[in-house]
Amino acid sequence: MLEKVVEVEGKVFEILGDGFRVWVNGPDGGSVARFNNSIDIHRPASEHGSKGQCLYCTRTQVTPSDWPVFVSKMKELYGVEIPDEFKPDRFL
Ligand SMILES: [Zn+2]
Repeated sequence: MLEKVVEVEGKVFEILGDGFRVWVNGPDGGSVARFNNSIDIHRPASEHGSKGQCLYCTRTQVTPSDWPVFVSKMKELYGVEIPDEFKPDRFL
């Protein structure tokens, strides 16, 4: 199990990974991103409002080529750098 806490502009994010899945909890403690069966990057629960929750969701089974997409979207949308060590070594 990998775990890393990163701070971006005063906001704390927690990155968790188990070599198969990665998930990121946002400043309010809720999940904001998952790299699991699909890529799901969401707004924090406190900001769902009328805009909906999805920022970038693929709804398709992830493949190794989705990893750099996930990493760059997390950087773009949240400013969070996902370290290479979190890259899953197993894909379905
Ligand atoms: Zn979504």
